[in-house]
Amino acid sequence: MGSFTLPRDLYQGKGSLEELKNLTGKKAVVVVGGGSMKRFGFLDRAVNYLKEAGMEVQLFENVEPDPSVETVMKGAKMMQEFEPDWIVAMGGGSPIDAAKAMWAFYEYPETTFEQLITPFSFPTLRTKAKFCAIPSTSGTATEVTAFSVITDYEKGIKYPLADFNITPDIAIVDPELAETMPKKLTAHTGMDAMTHAIEAYVSTLHCNYTDPLALHAIKMIHRDLKKSYDGDMEARDNMHDAQCLAGMAFSNALLGIVHSMAHKTGAAYTGGHIVHGCANAMYLPRVIQYNAKVEEAAKRYAEIADFIGLGGTTTEEKVAALVAEIKKMNDSLDIPKCIKEYEGGIIDEKEFMEKLPKVAELAIGDACTGSNPRIPTQEEMEKLLKACYYGEDINF
Ligand code: FE
Repeated sequence: MGSFTLPRDLYQGKGSLEELKNLTGKKAVVVVGGGSMKRFGFLDRAVNYLKEAGMEVQLFENVEPDPSVETVMKGAKMMQEFEPDWIVAMGGGSPIDAAKAMWAFYEYPETTFEQLITPFSFPTLRTKAKFCAIPSTSGTATEVTAFSVITDYEKGIKYPLADFNITPDIAIVDPELAETMPKKLTAHTGMDAMTHAIEAYVSTLHCNYTDPLALHAIKMIHRDLKKSYDGDMEARDNMHDAQCLAGMAFSNALLGIVHSMAHKTGAAYTGGHIVHGCANAMYLPRVIQYNAKVEEAAKRYAEIADFIGLGGTTTEEKVAALVAEIKKMNDSLDIPKCIKEYEGGIIDEKEFMEKLPKVAELAIGDACTGSNPRIPTQEEMEKLLKACYYGEDINF
């Protein structure tokens, strides 16, 4: 048996934020990030629409990038006191991810973080509140997915929470919010979306329902991301839809080891975080080379190459063309080739090598590894990570 879960309603297109007027409920908590939604006036608009809907509104502001366990607990406590029947999360992936986890602790104050991190083990939600997600970046697609990434800073680990209970009830995909994205964020989130679509397409859990979403997302991102990066707002609007389509695919087909590696390298080093989308962009070409040693995966990468018209006759040529195209996209978006070059070399080589066995072990154990078409051994994962550090091609 298969299943396929999406939000019940999705509103898209410019001005769709106004749909908040039509929610029915008594109290809403609006969860937002560091201030761009406020600065650009979207937060005020959202609050006013909710008030028009007859709701009392409280704000939970300043969710940090890569939200922490502490922020989640603080938000849940606030919700337990205010007792909202709607949680409206607005902004980049971080406030929406944080709000999803707050939702679980709001409905089940007795649950523990340790219980929630076991994939697909959430208690039944929606006994107290429903969830509306409004993304302002075009990448994570958390507005349609069953995932949330929360960081435990004490342990230096990112936990990808996964359960269809946290797939939002409503997604509002209004491209006006994404038009405010700075250039670098546009590049990183866009390649995150590309990685979602490609990993979903070759995932061992892909199906007839996820394939068309993944392929079309890849085609749109390939066509529009660079233009969006260069400030073409029509392309920017398309990217907002494309990343959402990719999200619908990967929420159901799951991901692969590009994400396993990005999750476990993200907060592991003292020099600084490796931004999620940028990590994916750097690792993706190497993982394609690694996975393509499995015949079925190679065939599917070749299908992607065909679908976006990259040429080539044999499967091998088509896979190589796809790898080259991803590298070319990264270059055009000013994304570094490897971890060594990341942010002028903030990730120390010695520290990277010292932590390599542990990071590799954690990456293999990541929730995204199970659906990758090839399961790496410890030695292979270490080699993969090393290749991502130095920007080498994979041939094993
Ligand atoms: Fe991602």
